[in-house]
Amino acid sequence: MPDPQPLRVLHVASEVAPFAKTGGLGDVCGALPKALRRRGIDVRVVVPLYAGMDWESLERLDGTIEVPMWWGPARAAVRLGHLPGSDVPVYFLEFHRYYDRPYIYGRPGDGYEDNLERFTFLSRGALELAKALHLAPDVIHAHDWQTALVPVYVNTVEWARPLHGAATVFTIHNLAHQGVTDGGAMFVTGLGQHHYNPGEFEHFGSLNVMKAALHHSTLLSTVSPTYAREIQSAAHGCGLDGILRSRHRDLHGILNGIDVEEWNPATDRHLPAHFSAASLEGKAACKAALQAEAGLPVNPKVPLFGVVGRLTPQKGLDILAHCMERVLSWDVQVVLLGAGDREAEHFFGSLSDRRRDRFRAWIGFSEPRAHRIEAGADFFIMPSRFEPCGLNQLYSLRYGTLPIVRATGGLVDTVEGYREASGEGTGFLFSDLTPDALANTLGWAASTWYDRPGHVDAMRRRAMAQDFSWARAAEAYERLYLEAYRRRRGHAFAGPPGGATPAPGARAG
Ligand code: ADP
Repeated sequence: MPDPQPLRVLHVASEVAPFAKTGGLGDVCGALPKALRRRGIDVRVVVPLYAGMDWESLERLDGTIEVPMWWGPARAAVRLGHLPGSDVPVYFLEFHRYYDRPYIYGRPGDGYEDNLERFTFLSRGALELAKALHLAPDVIHAHDWQTALVPVYVNTVEWARPLHGAATVFTIHNLAHQGVTDGGAMFVTGLGQHHYNPGEFEHFGSLNVMKAALHHSTLLSTVSPTYAREIQSAAHGCGLDGILRSRHRDLHGILNGIDVEEWNPATDRHLPAHFSAASLEGKAACKAALQAEAGLPVNPKVPLFGVVGRLTPQKGLDILAHCMERVLSWDVQVVLLGAGDREAEHFFGSLSDRRRDRFRAWIGFSEPRAHRIEAGADFFIMPSRFEPCGLNQLYSLRYGTLPIVRATGGLVDTVEGYREASGEGTGFLFSDLTPDALANTLGWAASTWYDRPGHVDAMRRRAMAQDFSWARAAEAYERLYLEAYRRRRGHAFAGPPGGATPAPGARAG
């Protein structure tokens, strides 16, 4: 008898846009569930109720759930909302002691000292919620170290209980953050000390929750095929390359999509004018408005370079810092929006004060301004040291803003390098992580702007025609879920949906 139910997938995440977001993780967890829903999957999301969310707009469910914590049972209320423009339920775990704070993780660069405890609560709480609501998910999809305990609990405290039947998928959005803390903190997880062993939590004398997820999850994924290969090497494996190599058959690289409604230059509510590949006049208006907003000379002839991103070593903006003087000696303009490391904030902030003729930095986080930069700039700079997928270069492509990226991770999979002889490509790539290599590539882009405007125009239209919608990624995730289900249960999923054959998605080498 076929199972009459659609596939049931429960996502657990520490960020879900538009409710909570510090980076790409939030974007993915806000958009992927909607695309899965469009494929007929019964998808739900669990996230904490943080300060700054519009609590009153969320429905408060009756009763509370009890979450076992090391210090005793915690009673949490649950609120219900939906991903905008969809019927995908989002459950918010309300526990003010952990989440009613100014930041999601702590001030950028620092983390709250009790983060292990805060996200233990989320991971365990999501499972308690699933049981309280009788959700019986077929697949539980956890994201990054904050929810790494989910697959571990499914295999341990839920052993031989209904939730144990759920397959688990764990997605690495960023391997650099693994939830590492002192081994003495093992008690916080509520699991016995015997789990603190080199196969599960113990990693070179510290407690590492991501390692345990890599061991316990039915299947693993990361957010681009190139990053899936890179993280199996010592250079990019952040110490976990050995375990990733040992599971290489279970590790899949699925490129992120973007929210094509939220990031659409033809309708974007944050823009002063709209445009499309067929009609680019609006882009010129966005550029003029951005130059004015930045206090730079309003001049359509000067190429405008944009930067948006976290000011952390990952993003390689220290490399940019080291070549800014050289770049600003040319007839170009640069605008930057970012927050993070204090030295970087200070450097770009003071350079902005000194070089108002050509450079403007905004230190802070502003979604509307990020949209205005993507739309108004001619080129977008992303010199990442490593980049699991990267979203900003995808937004740039869609907004006809040619990305200038380092050849790493998802940037390789999404940006096609410019070939001067033929004019082909959608952006500029460079490999060496040095100020000279970056400056030379920025110079190449600037000379292309001035000397080969036809190439810039053609690249722009080609970039805007790329398809990075979530529909493609959702199809690959559905295949992954069906494969995970088959592994967990020992038989194929019998019910609808939805067209996909239970074969693995893009597999890492
Ligand atoms: P990561 O997830 O590593 O930060 P991504 O490129 O995948 O990098 O995603 C970054 C996301 O966060 C993009 O949506 C980008 O616009 C946004 N973002 C980063 N910094 C800022 C900022 N200072 N203001 C507004 N948006 C930002």
